[in-house]
Amino acid sequence: MSHNGEETLITVLNTDGQRLTPCLPHRAVREVERSRAVWIDEQTIQLLYNPFLFRDYRKAALKRDRYTCLWCGRHATTVDHIIPSSKGGSYLPQNLLASCSECNTKRGNRPAFSYLKENIHSVPKLMKLCWRIVRAIVVK
Ligand SMILES: [Zn+2]
Repeated sequence: MSHNGEETLITVLNTDGQRLTPCLPHRAVREVERSRAVWIDEQTIQLLYNPFLFRDYRKAALKRDRYTCLWCGRHATTVDHIIPSSKGGSYLPQNLLASCSECNTKRGNRPAFSYLKENIHSVPKLMKLCWRIVRAIVVK
């Protein structure tokens, strides 16, 4: 399969078992590490979420937060996971915050409250953000 040095693509199944666009092995490994997919066999993963719904959730979260970064108040184009997906945080809107790419990158995988402590003076709506974080942690 990979005689010419190209990586073998991994078959991707959605939650209903339908085939989606195949992906590269490192991508499949990452999805499984983030508890977003499981291995069916060594060439196939099955997603535990609906990627189309995921895209809608991101859009919904950005719209809900009026495309404003909740960390700094600037224009937001990305969503930040309150509980990082690498730590099992969900892709549901209650775990997402509108975030500018700078804040998103700066925070990385750090817990939301420790990043909040460092940036407490630049957060425009502190109570709103605290409430969001608490709710995401409690509800999960
Ligand atoms: Zn920001």
